[in-house]
Amino acid sequence: MIAEIKTLTAYKNCEKTLQNAIPCVGIGLHSGQKVHMTLKPAGIGHGIVFKRTDITDKDNLIPVSHDTVVDTRMCSCVGNADGVSVGTIEHLMGALSGFGITNILIELDSAEVPVMDGSALDYVTLIECAGIIKQDAPLKAVKILKEVTFDDNKGASVCLYPAQKNLSIDFMIDFSKSKVIGRQEYSITLSERTFKDAISYARTFGFLQEVEALRAMGLAKGGSFDNVIVVDGDKVANKEGLRSENEFVVHKTLDAVGDLYQLGMPIIGHFAGVKSGHAHTNQLLRKLMADKSAYTIVNLDDYEESLCQTSIRQSA
Ligand SMILES: [Zn+2]
Repeated sequence: MIAEIKTLTAYKNCEKTLQNAIPCVGIGLHSGQKVHMTLKPAGIGHGIVFKRTDITDKDNLIPVSHDTVVDTRMCSCVGNADGVSVGTIEHLMGALSGFGITNILIELDSAEVPVMDGSALDYVTLIECAGIIKQDAPLKAVKILKEVTFDDNKGASVCLYPAQKNLSIDFMIDFSKSKVIGRQEYSITLSERTFKDAISYARTFGFLQEVEALRAMGLAKGGSFDNVIVVDGDKVANKEGLRSENEFVVHKTLDAVGDLYQLGMPIIGHFAGVKSGHAHTNQLLRKLMADKSAYTIVNLDDYEESLCQTSIRQSA
């Protein structure tokens, strides 16, 4: 079932928010702490904003943007000038991207979005239960005009290329240290349908051997078989196994979708990720936004109309 969408606008592509507020409870993957989170509707132009309700003596609002990302170790974490932050936002951001939610207030009483089952499935369910409202403002999109690349010179790279329509993604991972992962490739063109059906289920993964080191760094304290695919050498340690053979690369694609949505609007372009992670995608967005000749902001209705006109002229 695709979420029922209430329309309050004549625009075909428009800003969207939730119809109702919806709460949930979970634990933080890295903090291990219990988190209460409520997704709330927000007005036109509001954007995606987190609010830390446990903080009252400082600015507790954190708008999501490529330039409010303050940490990319193992997750994407956004913060404000008062040093107030929220981590592990990427899977929720993926679900917001999948449904095209542009305006939302996300209240939570801890420094981390609850990890749920390690995928975006529960956020999809929450958003569908809350319902979606189309708002009376045209949807804008970032159209890529020329190739932008970020390469870490250690084998990982990310790239955005121009494309006519939508966001398409190619992702490649290569974990030679584990045969159960190995080399995997995945390609998808993003839409509400493809996000929900093909990407949202894929869980995050980690290596058993790295758990101790991560915990010493204060990370992965909430990680368990309930929310992480645990890779032990050449096998998966979770009793239930994998949800699909390529769940690893699909999860990396989900991460990329969520991270790319830090711009708060859809991208018209093609993204290619090679062995990349949160840090690479954020660096790519910073590089893109710093180069005004690499992109333009379009009104999607006008843009689709112009594509239509072009194809009519070409066939005439
Ligand atoms: Zn992830």
